Amino acid sequence: MKDVIIFSAPSGSGKSTIVNYLLSLDLGLEFSISATCRAPRGEEQHGKEYYFFSTDEFRQRIGKDDFLEWEEVYPGCYYGTLKSELERIWKAGHAVVFDVDVVGGVNIKKIFGDQALSIFVKAPSVEVLRQRLVGRGTDSMEKIEQRVAKAEYEMTFADKFDVVIVNDDLETALAEAEKAVRGFLK
Ligand code: ADP
Ligand code: 5GP
Repeated sequence: MKDVIIFSAPSGSGKSTIVNYLLSLDLGLEFSISATCRAPRGEEQHGKEYYFFSTDEFRQRIGKDDFLEWEEVYPGCYYGTLKSELERIWKAGHAVVFDVDVVGGVNIKKIFGDQALSIFVKAPSVEVLRQRLVGRGTDSMEKIEQRVAKAEYEMTFADKFDVVIVNDDLETALAEAEKAVRGFLK
């Protein structure tokens, strides 16, 4: 089965926390490592969280049609899914887990239809979102404000997803995500 699970959310909603939890379970899921031209954050490694490309290399790969989808998520900052990632994961017999921006999420759902489960993760409010980004301690205040400013717009995409999870209490959100994914994979 070539299953696809898509997670999208405004940055800071807790999407990575939820995705990492699901990946730690024995569900046969594998993370689609995206390509980006932003700089690595904290302990991030090339080939683990992302493939870190220069802007030039990213543009060359767009030209070679290497991407299933790509977006300029922040001005001058590209993110995209390499077609080779899907092949790698499906060949291993796993379901692909995407962590992509809201536009990418809607586009991937359109490509895969019923083969895909799309999940939107929401923080309880924009203020909580800001506090979580500050608490995470990985971004400058400028980057945090850029992400918060985009969150209101991103929130308007929620109803285009199959499932919406409000990440208030983390344990509840993890349980909801697990239930949705198990139900889909059955
Ligand atoms: P995203 O991947 O959506 O940008 P993260 O998973 O990195 O978000 O979460 C942002 C920050 O909020 C992290 O420091 C994380 O530990 C914290 N966090 C996630 N979920 C909750 C929650 N339900 N309550 C409090 N803090 C949370
Ligand atoms: P971050 O810089 O916080 O890792 O990611 C910023 C945003 O880019 C997040 O919303 C993340 O989901 C999104 N993103 C990561 N990889 C991709 C991708 O391959 N395609 C798209 N469209 N968005 C991505």
